[in-house]
Amino acid sequence: MSAAKMDQGIGGDVTLFHTSQLDKLINMARENSLWYLLFGLACCGIELMQTGGVRADVMRFGAIPRASPRQADFMIVAGTLTYKMAERAKLLYDQMPEPKYVVSMGSCSNCGGLFQLGYSVCKGVDKMVPVDVYIPGCPPRPEALTEGIIRLQELVRNEPYLAQRRRPPEAKGVA
Ligand code: SF4
Repeated sequence: MSAAKMDQGIGGDVTLFHTSQLDKLINMARENSLWYLLFGLACCGIELMQTGGVRADVMRFGAIPRASPRQADFMIVAGTLTYKMAERAKLLYDQMPEPKYVVSMGSCSNCGGLFQLGYSVCKGVDKMVPVDVYIPGCPPRPEALTEGIIRLQELVRNEPYLAQRRRPPEAKGVA
């Protein structure tokens, strides 16, 4: 290998090392301050509220509820998603800044649940927006949602954040 190539290789390794270390630092901050957009739609919404209450206290993980999509890192879709509401879910998702994530809470949100045969119910929020974490149950308990948020934290922790930032916006489009 020529000296120039060797230099390039070493330089590349050093850059990669710095990038990955910086990624870890940035991700540590991000995973501990994931703010979520409230999107409680039906009975699962009650469990979502409980999760933010004193007993489950999900805020100890840095997960803070927000009413505005512009201040949210992820969206929790909790409950039965009708086709009419699905359009709003997509609109709210589009208004969230990158990087953004979606947690689908409960059978209805995952696949239509009890209302799978209903003409007006969307058979899964992933038909409208990409979902990162699915939480099963009808309804899932606050402990299950807390577990889902911990899974999301793991996902954020292991993400190549800086590499993603350099991706063109169209590469991160909605499925
Ligand atoms: Fe209600 Fe069960 Fe559907 Fe949740 S999954 S919204 S608890 S019917």
